[in-house]
Amino acid sequence: MDNRYSRQELFRQVGKKGQEKIQQKHVLIIGCGALGTANAESLVRAGVGKLTIVDRDYVEPSNLHRQQLFTEQDCFQQLPKAIAAKEHLSQINSNVDIQVFVMDGNYTNLLPILRDVDLVIDATDNFDIRYMMNDLVHQENVPWIFGSCVGSTGMSFTVLPGKTPCLQCILDATPVSGATCDSVGIIAPAVQMVVAHQQSEAIKILVEDFTALRSKLVTFDLWNNLYHTVDMTRSKKERCPTCGVNPSYPYLQYETQTKMEVLCGRNTVQIRAKRKVQLDELEQRLSRIGKVNKNPFLLSLEYATYRIVIFKDGRVLVHGTDSLELARNIYYQLVG
Ligand SMILES: [Zn+2]
Repeated sequence: MDNRYSRQELFRQVGKKGQEKIQQKHVLIIGCGALGTANAESLVRAGVGKLTIVDRDYVEPSNLHRQQLFTEQDCFQQLPKAIAAKEHLSQINSNVDIQVFVMDGNYTNLLPILRDVDLVIDATDNFDIRYMMNDLVHQENVPWIFGSCVGSTGMSFTVLPGKTPCLQCILDATPVSGATCDSVGIIAPAVQMVVAHQQSEAIKILVEDFTALRSKLVTFDLWNNLYHTVDMTRSKKERCPTCGVNPSYPYLQYETQTKMEVLCGRNTVQIRAKRKVQLDELEQRLSRIGKVNKNPFLLSLEYATYRIVIFKDGRVLVHGTDSLELARNIYYQLVG
């Protein structure tokens, strides 16, 4: 397959030199759902040297309409997403060194992986891990491409530690709703559009054409035909605890991490997140998937066989299970 990369090399900004660089680089993708599989396929086809994928989930039927690497067979076998992805990716390009971890990424287990990584791609589905990654890539000085999508909308921003504002600064300036794919759904083109933005930026970083990077936040709504880019250069805050002059990396501290515990004898899991929630917004969103009751202090939702109670300070009780794994999945599906 001598001419495997010929068309990519023919593209002047990549060239033979760029292709060689791509083949020497190591990319880490956090998450192997819709964004993760599409990003992974693109990188493997482009000939990245090494790819590491971290994901904690397994393949389910409701993934198939948008998570492009997976097949019905993966579903029947309930394969972990990272394992199924590796199988398909190796068939696409056997020259790529693919390493996968079936685990819930956190500070402790991601730090050693990050040591020889040239680029991190965000393909996660919740902001707890994104804020943690935001701190981690700044502490380790690794470029990171944020991406998120829900419904027919999406956004992406390229974070270069020491140069651009961080995710925290961006989101302080442009608040996003907490809507999730499990509450308002998603169409596959929204995924593809985010991935197109993430991957073009990724190739620029891998061939080291940093001047070509997009400095703006891009947001779009494919259904309503909206496309915006927003200049974020002024959003960088000198006092930001992540990208400011005296960083403290708050999301790498134990106290700020979301904690979960089984409440003994109550068939309930308690989740303590440090993020305050907007009960009105949550009520609106969650009433589409179950019966919601709300008072000024909390909101409760009947969801399948579970009852979920969400307090204003971010604390959540999941009644009807003593599985941390299950409760965590429900939590991220609903709260995002
Ligand atoms: Zn910042």
